[in-house]
Amino acid sequence: MQRYDCLVIGAGFAGAVVAGELARAGKKVLVLEKRPHVGGNAYDCLDDAGVLIHKYGPHIFHTNNARVFEYLSQYTDWLDYQHRVVANVPKDGAPRERQEYPVPFNLTSLETAFGPEEGKRLGDKLIAAYGAEKKVTILELRQSKDPEIAALADYVYDHVFVKYTMKQWGQTPEEIDPNTTARVPVFLSRDDRYFQDKYQGMPIDGYTPLVQKILRHPNITLKLSADAKRHLTLGEGELLLDGEVFEGPVVYTGAVDEFFGLKHGRLPYRTLDFQFETWQEETFGKPVPKGRHALTAGEFYQTHATVNYTMDEPYTRITEFKRLTGQDLPGVTTIMKEHSRAYTGAPGEIPYYAIINEENNALYAKYKAEADGYKNLRLLGRLAEYKYYNMDAIIARALALADELLER
Ligand SMILES: Cc1cc2nc3c(=O)[nH]c(=O)nc-3n(C[C@H](O)[C@H](O)[C@H](O)COP(=O)(O)OP(=O)(O)OC[C@H]3O[C@@H](n4cnc5c(N)ncnc54)[C@H](O)[C@@H]3O)c2cc1C
Repeated sequence: MQRYDCLVIGAGFAGAVVAGELARAGKKVLVLEKRPHVGGNAYDCLDDAGVLIHKYGPHIFHTNNARVFEYLSQYTDWLDYQHRVVANVPKDGAPRERQEYPVPFNLTSLETAFGPEEGKRLGDKLIAAYGAEKKVTILELRQSKDPEIAALADYVYDHVFVKYTMKQWGQTPEEIDPNTTARVPVFLSRDDRYFQDKYQGMPIDGYTPLVQKILRHPNITLKLSADAKRHLTLGEGELLLDGEVFEGPVVYTGAVDEFFGLKHGRLPYRTLDFQFETWQEETFGKPVPKGRHALTAGEFYQTHATVNYTMDEPYTRITEFKRLTGQDLPGVTTIMKEHSRAYTGAPGEIPYYAIINEENNALYAKYKAEADGYKNLRLLGRLAEYKYYNMDAIIARALALADELLER
């Protein structure tokens, strides 16, 4: 008799949602998670200053998928939060001064970058050519016979796209996929939200409590700090759990190349170095503690939750968590600068972004073929499928896989 019907590896959104659904349908599920916490990369926690931080990068929930939103709403209430991002760039002609405008670049950005009158004139011209509330790609703008519109495409490319993308992906301009460049939009609107999805918000108590609730079920046994490598071995077409053949479904959400001992080589990723800083207001008789920075004016560090640095700074963006989570914590704030670099597989490094191209997809296909040799093994999630998923997309995939495994 096996104690468990199903084995799930990883307790990020992919693993947690599948495990939760299987358990609620009556299956006994063992979840192995190698980190000491659940939530995967969406994990959040309080830092030393009491600020709720997203340890592995800022996560904003947004979706048009009603099933996903209703599913999550069983486990959390929502803080109404509409994400807005600005690019912080040196002013043209006065490089020591900075200016901020919304990204994606829109009608407000035009007026900030070119001045209210000139910006308005250009905006009206664009609306006349393409229509109000339209998202026009810079490829379309470049194809315009009007030299002013074509020049605008170059402005957006130079000021908000090319250097940011070079930092993010470690590429030269020549290496950047022309299709990606072509898709950069200019939004002919004053809607300065980063996403236009129907459902947007932050889980009211954070992501970790949300995932904990999904996993809280008597049919789930959750083991933290439990690397599957120590428990699961590959036999001839069968998987062994602690030495015994495991016949139930095995849902694996970790890195697929590591599952097969990197036998075909390592799948390339970008990793991120996060530089956290706590800033504190100076109050009379209470000096700012060691290791913290002094906030000179107000209690916020920056104007928006996320500010993109699209030009020459070494980091891509700065996130201020209090602005994201709505946390009421006067006098202190924590920010995070994101630095992107190649993933090497060194201990402690986390693979964040799969580098999707033909060569890497071909390498992934070799691992997928290995996985297909185990009839009860299912690959799910951003690492196992070598693919970028937003949270809503992976939750939708996980719900679909649970439906399939439960034949419902
Ligand atoms: C910087 C950044 C920002 C993001 N921002 C957003 C956002 O704003 N909005 C949004 O919708 N999405 C965002 N995402 C995407 C989001 O993080 C993913 O959708 C989500 O993490 C996918 O969940 P997952 O379970 O597939 O992967 P993960 O969250 O990575 O979970 C996989 C889990 O498996 C565990 N694991 C791996 N190998 C093993 C093993 N051998 N044994 C046991 N456990 C193992 C890992 O420790 C991890 O906990 C962002 C991603 C990044 C990188």
